Amino acid sequence: MSTTSFAQKTILRGNALKSIKNVKSARSQGAARVVRTMASNTTLPIDLKGKKAFIAGVADDNGFGWAIAKALSQAGADVILGTWVPALNIFETSYRRGKFDESRKLSDGSLMEFAKIYPMDAVFDTMDDVPEDVKTNKRYAGNEKWTVSEVAECVEKDFGKIDILVHSLANGREVAKPLLETSREGYLGAISASSYSNIAMLQKFGPLMNKGGACISLTYLASERIIPGYGGGMSSAKAALESDTRVLAFEAGRKWGIRVNTISAGPLGSRAAKAIGFIDDMINYSMTNAPLSEKPLDAIEVGNTAAFLCSPLASAITGSTVYVDNGLNCMGVATDSKSIPDRS
Ligand code: NAD
Repeated sequence: MSTTSFAQKTILRGNALKSIKNVKSARSQGAARVVRTMASNTTLPIDLKGKKAFIAGVADDNGFGWAIAKALSQAGADVILGTWVPALNIFETSYRRGKFDESRKLSDGSLMEFAKIYPMDAVFDTMDDVPEDVKTNKRYAGNEKWTVSEVAECVEKDFGKIDILVHSLANGREVAKPLLETSREGYLGAISASSYSNIAMLQKFGPLMNKGGACISLTYLASERIIPGYGGGMSSAKAALESDTRVLAFEAGRKWGIRVNTISAGPLGSRAAKAIGFIDDMINYSMTNAPLSEKPLDAIEVGNTAAFLCSPLASAITGSTVYVDNGLNCMGVATDSKSIPDRS
């Protein structure tokens, strides 16, 4: 039992406080020196040299997948693509003919290169799942090993382990239909292509990911707020994707030591978004109502966030939905609503 008197304790506490203050002051002087040194000599880079990234969902140079490929390449990663089989031929032809050369330029003037482009259809896990009409479809002819498990096997054979896995794809055949008019087939198809595909990719690629690796997917605000026009079960698919991100972060974190996050992106005029039919209105709406309204969202802002999230700088971030949308998700009212005066 301690026999220290109250007075002694007070003196001891006083001394302890003094020594903490001394340590703090020494630390803060040291810290100031460190900060000065950092400001003058160093930067905090996103360095992905030596890392291998597999990105599913790139078929032109307009979408988020391309921008993520570019940011990862800029950070030094080797990028491998999985491109939807029906879109592969035209993508490869355009690529070969130099149609994307301008958007392939990296900051040092060199052109982004892909280590390999695999045909892929994220809706099928193995060949046993593929129905006859798809197997015999003209748009699939001449391609093989494009189901998720086969692509993972090929990537492992060709490249060994990978570090980064990106899911930048979605599809909902009945997206233009309100939920009240969506068929069971359309709804389940949207979930299969847009959310289960993310689970399937992690199931098959997880075992070939290095510890410390990271996965990213792309989601949209319609998962949690009503966006009329984003129908066909696509809002449900994005809600599932975000919930799955949390559960997969736990399971894949414990199993393989990898991180799982999703980026909730603002509106972008990609090919997929144009097919939905009201993307220009959504971009205008964001420009009018988002906290940052100087310019529309640039896909590379999502690419750069993905590069950060996949880098060791984000080593403690997992299970998160990260908004890259000029802040639109924060708004509770539309500033251009006729029923409220403009207070901006
Ligand atoms: P995009 O057209 O560039 O990308 C969609 C890709 O999905 C295409 O390359 C397409 O070929 C591929 N794809 C479709 N079905 C596939 C399948 N079964 N297997 C493999 N690939 C398949 O369009 P984007 O807008 O950049 O979309 C990328 C992601 O971003 C999607 O998840 C989308 O929902 C999300 N997102 C887009 C917006 C937007 O406004 N554009 C906003 C938030 C989130």
